[in-house]
Amino acid sequence: MIQIDLTGQVAVVTGGSSGIGLATAELFLRAGASVAICGRNAERLNAAQTSLTAQFPQAPLLAARCDVLDADDVAAFAAQVAERFGRTDMLVNNAGQGRVSTFADTTDDAWREELELKYFSLIRPTRAFLPMLRDAEAPSIVCVNSLLALQPEPHMVATSSARAGTLSLVKSLASELAPQRIRVNSILIGIVESGQWRRRFAEQAAPGQNWEDWTAELARKKNIPLGRFGRPEEAAQALFYLATNLSSYTTGSHIDVSGGVARHV
Ligand code: NDP
Repeated sequence: MIQIDLTGQVAVVTGGSSGIGLATAELFLRAGASVAICGRNAERLNAAQTSLTAQFPQAPLLAARCDVLDADDVAAFAAQVAERFGRTDMLVNNAGQGRVSTFADTTDDAWREELELKYFSLIRPTRAFLPMLRDAEAPSIVCVNSLLALQPEPHMVATSSARAGTLSLVKSLASELAPQRIRVNSILIGIVESGQWRRRFAEQAAPGQNWEDWTAELARKKNIPLGRFGRPEEAAQALFYLATNLSSYTTGSHIDVSGGVARHV
């Protein structure tokens, strides 16, 4: 593996208390960066902080309670990062979750909620951290998006539609921020083992069915060419690549981390 030293740099990961965000925070800490994570649930956040501190006892880590949909929360989170670390080099917009619903069963309120989550989870942190990113030497923003942006699924109609919109937003942001040297990219993921899938397993698995059998059966049903769910660290590695100078000549782009599910060339 290529070694990269991020000592002195600061990475902010929204939704860093679980799944992909937590795995990404681990990679940044392993590379020597200072890391700030946020989430809404204090218990989950404390557990993440305990686990990261156990692995990286000396690491500069900030774990803050913040709902990325609340402008005041996000401003307070950015202020905490500024006070503790004085800078931000990399912002990973990861916080969120998907919504399973067809057009027939998505109400106006559900549409608004989903569009608000997908757009503002990106807009608010980006706006709040931009002043610090502008001062960084090699700043970047990476957004967790889904393959649904390019390959919509009828059973996730609102999420697919919102994901297509935010893919477009990332491209626009990349163009607008390129003159300020800020790179903006995203990853398009398929199914990644994480908190939200663990919760679906708890609700949907047949009595006696274990996690491995349940995910293997789903991977078969969904025709995932690599035959399994992705692991959080596999999404995290793509985020790490796009956030750091390993991808210094890449902006307005995306990496597919879907196990081969994309049907387009
Ligand atoms: P997890 O549920 O494991 O992690 C989600 C993280 O986001 C948690 O830390 C959660 O903490 C946080 N979060 C959710 N909403 C908010 C909010 N409003 N403000 C702040 N933090 C929030 O799921 P994943 O790791 O899978 O999810 C990461 C991203 O990947 C999400 O955006 C998800 O939509 C996306 N994604 C995941 C896929 C998958 O298969 N796993 C597929 C496609 C996209 P808390 O709840 O405490 O706030």
